[in-house]
Amino acid sequence: MTLTKNIIIAIDGYSSTGKSTLAKHLAKEIGYVYVDTGAMYRAVTYYAMINGFIDEKHFDKEGLLASLSGVDLSFRFNKDLGYAEIFLNGENVESFIRSMSVSNKVSQVAAVPEVRQKLVEQQQKMALKKGIVMDGRDIGTVVFPEAELKLFMTASAEERAKRRYKEMRDNGVDIDYQSVLENVMSRDHLDTTRSDSPLVKAADAIEIDNSQMNVDETYVLAMSYIKEKFQNI
Ligand code: C5P
Repeated sequence: MTLTKNIIIAIDGYSSTGKSTLAKHLAKEIGYVYVDTGAMYRAVTYYAMINGFIDEKHFDKEGLLASLSGVDLSFRFNKDLGYAEIFLNGENVESFIRSMSVSNKVSQVAAVPEVRQKLVEQQQKMALKKGIVMDGRDIGTVVFPEAELKLFMTASAEERAKRRYKEMRDNGVDIDYQSVLENVMSRDHLDTTRSDSPLVKAADAIEIDNSQMNVDETYVLAMSYIKEKFQNI
């Protein structure tokens, strides 16, 4: 499908609402670049972990900030997967950044204004030519307040935890449902209450509550908004 003009599609919302699945699918259908900003915050968190700046008990924010200029993030398109993977200082870190131990720390790292400033600048540069689908927490509010289409994804915490639990079990991760639910709720809390760029629905965003929808139904609904406003017919 082609669109009448190159636009920016911003997809924000709570964790495990299917933002990245939806964003990847939309980008493929309309021939756009997809950027997973959560992967960027996760990669910085992974960097902080392997360099001893954060663990279960402490967070040396000053230490991380002092070496932030040494964090280089880039995306490289993987033809076999059909989307770009994230590289930290030249190393593919996709297989490390989705672990529970990164998930448990990422919202603390993402609350640091200097970290956000660095990543937001990089995100804004990626969209100079538009033609991009970006998902995250602050895309429609801070990164691209002028985005032509903004979607805000939500679903009940229990439903989101069920999905994440199944996904992790399917990937062979030995985890219990209660821990996943606690992580989902704790990230909701940290993401919505932080002082810099909290997760909030932009006034002009379209809300999609997919508690009762599957992946395909969510995609069809989102696609209908794109077709309605931007399809080249
Ligand atoms: O999207 P994902 O669940 O991978 O994001 C991981 C975490 O990164 C979020 O819980 C949030 O704390 C942070 N994040 C953010 N701003 C973004 C994207 C992600 O603060 N644009």
